[in-house]
Amino acid sequence: MNQRVLSGMRPTGALHLGHYHGALKNWVRLQADYECFYFVADWHALTTHYEERDTIEKSVYDMVVDWLAAGLDPEKSTIFIQSRLPEHAELFTLLAMGTPLGWLERVPTYKDQIEKLKDRDLATYGFLGYPLLQAADILIYKAAYVPVGEDQASHVELTREVARRFNHLYGRMPGFEAKVAAALAKLPKDDARYLEKQRRDYQQAGKAEALAKGEAMVQKAASSAPGWTPDDSELLLGHLKGTGKTVLTEPAALHTEVTKLPGLDGTKMSKSYGNAIAMREEPAEVERKIRRMPTDPARVHRTDKGNPERCPVWQFHQVFTDEPTRQWAWQGCTTAGIGCLDCKQPVIDAIKKQQEPWRERAEAYLSNPKQVHWIVEVGTERARTVARETMRDVREAMGLVY
Ligand code: ATP
Ligand code: MG
Repeated sequence: MNQRVLSGMRPTGALHLGHYHGALKNWVRLQADYECFYFVADWHALTTHYEERDTIEKSVYDMVVDWLAAGLDPEKSTIFIQSRLPEHAELFTLLAMGTPLGWLERVPTYKDQIEKLKDRDLATYGFLGYPLLQAADILIYKAAYVPVGEDQASHVELTREVARRFNHLYGRMPGFEAKVAAALAKLPKDDARYLEKQRRDYQQAGKAEALAKGEAMVQKAASSAPGWTPDDSELLLGHLKGTGKTVLTEPAALHTEVTKLPGLDGTKMSKSYGNAIAMREEPAEVERKIRRMPTDPARVHRTDKGNPERCPVWQFHQVFTDEPTRQWAWQGCTTAGIGCLDCKQPVIDAIKKQQEPWRERAEAYLSNPKQVHWIVEVGTERARTVARETMRDVREAMGLVY
């Protein structure tokens, strides 16, 4: 089975080109190599927008349509809604008990966002806790990878610390010894004795090669011992290393190259800055917005020579047009050979062209909302199977099965 990737997006409004180039495009690519779980992070939307119930409600399915329009394939990806799986909240609560406050307070995005979003009241328990909720989102699916931009690497690091702490505190689940004995009994006697010897040599004498030999033995058992299960391997590896069973898996950050897309004014494209072009923006609106975009402020007259380095339209050329077009634009701008509207036209055309297949696919889904609901339904149940299994292990490990 392919390794699992997990990612989510907050339903706070229509997705824009920044979301596509910065995240969604990559999600689509990942489908080829991983088992992808993508979720609508509606609880996360509430951490900053708790008073905007209408926006969130309206955006949930709109966002799923944007995802499908961009090329997420429901046959390949599991698409679901966070709040439909209360297991996330249960794991969040349980993890919260042993998570030091300082771990959350020192997440870099915490202070950043409080600074940046001054108009919102972010001095809430929910906002402080959201990286831990994210940790629960990731750990509940035993995700191997989480695609992240630089600013979110610290969240994955926190998730790893939380998992490590959990495994350390609760890894020796009740009945661990008995389960180890049962797994050992599935091995030929000599092999079981050999494994025990390696364990002693490793744990008592610290011999690294003993650990390697023991691991090789477990691997051999996995392919040859009758009635062997992956759980048996995990138990014996824990027994061998003295760490117990790994209940929660530490994810790794999947660093991928993504574009930080500027908006119409040259700063990062963002709904909240009013500088965005929606993925499904009407073509006429795209045209209007780009024609009104500011350009090099020093190029006042058509006859003035421009400096592309100071022009937000040039940044769009970097993302949307090809090399010959860029050469033409650079040359034309710096020699006053073309006007700003001339320069904008290929960008307008390229964006409209990129949007065409999105619009087509979106229209098909919009005319058949039941299909979209069904896709989410199927995804949610698929996710639920995994989440339930993890929670059974977690409850058992924490001694919550009465
Ligand atoms: P907005 O910033 O428009 O209000 P949001 O805050 O709801 O949207 P984010 O959580 O900021 O959404 O972004 C969701 C994902 O999209 C993240 O992976 C983020 O890096 C990416 N993203 C958002 N805007 C841009 C952009 N302008 N360029 C590149 N990536 C972006
Ligand atoms: Mg944002």
